[in-house]
Amino acid sequence: MSPTIAVLALQGAFIEHEQRLQSLGCAAIELRQAADLERSFDGVVLPGGESTVQAKLLHDLGMFEPLRQRIAEGLPALGTCAGLILLADHFRTLPVTVRRNAYGRQLGSFHAEGCWENTNEAIPLTFIRAPRIEALGPGVEPLVTLNDAPVAVRHLNQIGAAFHPELDSDNCLYEAFLERVA
Ligand code: GLN
Repeated sequence: MSPTIAVLALQGAFIEHEQRLQSLGCAAIELRQAADLERSFDGVVLPGGESTVQAKLLHDLGMFEPLRQRIAEGLPALGTCAGLILLADHFRTLPVTVRRNAYGRQLGSFHAEGCWENTNEAIPLTFIRAPRIEALGPGVEPLVTLNDAPVAVRHLNQIGAAFHPELDSDNCLYEAFLERVA
């Protein structure tokens, strides 16, 4: 059976994630209000956007604590850019230290080639005012590095990426996430 993935759809780049998940054979549903959390889904994607806005909306809509709890209990989660900041700083379910907007305003957006740690293969990366992953807590594994610094990490069922995998054609990160879902 194909997995159903919920995409947080309050703000930011959620449509691109939905399209990619569908192209990978998943059903995608949107989380827009607390009632959507009652639907059945096998994993969640937290998109890029503005983490402060997303966190405020999650609180205002009464979605913050139920979603945090599901992730803390092991619901597979993929957080990209602002989504990584949600996992690390707001939910505090992913034990990494991140610094927001660490790549500066002028040079805030850029493409680069990273290294997929498992295979040493090159992977295209798109950064948009991205957070820097500054320190990894216990049990956090780097998945992708850029100049030897981690830009995507995994901790149990959570994957956090500083870049935007939905904007490049490479599927490695989605596949790693869907492996946790299976
Ligand atoms: N700068 C944003 C934040 O701090 C993240 C940017 C992004 O998601 N592309 O939340």
